[in-house]
Amino acid sequence: MKQSAVISKALKEGRKSLLETEAKALCKEYGIPVTRIELAKNEKEAVKLAGLIGYPVVLKIVSPDIIHKSDVGGVKVNIRNAKEVADAYNEILRNAKKSSPKAKIVGVLVQEMAPQSTEVIVGAVKDPQFGPTIMFGLGGIFVEVLRDVTFRVAPITEDEAREMLSDVKAYPLLTGYRNMPKADLNAIVNILLRTSKLVSEHEEIKEIDLNPIMVYEKGAKTVDARVILE
Ligand code: ADP
Ligand code: MG
Repeated sequence: MKQSAVISKALKEGRKSLLETEAKALCKEYGIPVTRIELAKNEKEAVKLAGLIGYPVVLKIVSPDIIHKSDVGGVKVNIRNAKEVADAYNEILRNAKKSSPKAKIVGVLVQEMAPQSTEVIVGAVKDPQFGPTIMFGLGGIFVEVLRDVTFRVAPITEDEAREMLSDVKAYPLLTGYRNMPKADLNAIVNILLRTSKLVSEHEEIKEIDLNPIMVYEKGAKTVDARVILE
C-alpha cells in the first residue's frame, strides 16, 4: 500500500471525498491524462489563469460539500474571453451559494477545455467479496440509461483491459462507426491499467469515477474525476 498526500489530507480533515483538484493530482501521479487545471481564489486571479491556460476554458466550483457540480450550476464551459471569465466566476459562486448556502467554497477551478469527442467512463468500486473492481463504458446514455458497462476485478492485465473495451455493446462506436472518429483504443487501455494500479495501491479509495474522459484519434483526456474515500 502507498501513502498519498491528498488522501491523507482529506482524511485528516474528516472528508469522505477528494476535491477535483486533488483527484486529478492523484490521477496525474499515476499517469492518467487530465486537463490542465489552476485554482482561482478571486475573479482577477481567474482571468489571469484563463489567459495562462489559453481560451476556451471551463470554470467549475470547488467545494468539499458539492459533489455533483453541474447540478448546482457550478460548471461553465466554452468561456472565450476575460469578460466571460469574470461573469462565469461570479455566476458560479452565486449559484453555489443559492443551492448550498452552507457549503464551504475553496475556490473556482479554471481549466483547459477539452474539445468535444467520444466520451468514455472509467471507474472503480469496491466489491464486498472481490475488492476493487474496474468499470468501463461509453459516456452519456450508454452507461446511464442502457447500463452498457463491464467490470473486472483489479488488478487487471493488459489483455483484460482490451477485453473490457470489446465487451460493451457500444464498442463499434470506438472503432469508427459512420462519421464518428476512430478512438485511440491504446489510450483507453492505458487509463484502465493505471486506474487499476491506483485503486490497488490505495485501499482507502471506496470509489473512483473518471467521467467523462474525452477520447481522440490520438490520446485521451479526463475532464472530471471524483474519488470517494472509505
Ligand atoms: P459534474 O460534477 O457535474 O459531473 P463535470 O466536471 O463532469 O461536473 O462537468 C459537467 C460536464 O461539463 C462534463 O460532463 C463535460 O461534458 C463538461 N466539461 C467539464 N469539464 C470540461 C473540460 N475541461 N473540457 C470540456 N468539457 C468539460
Ligand atoms: Mg462529471
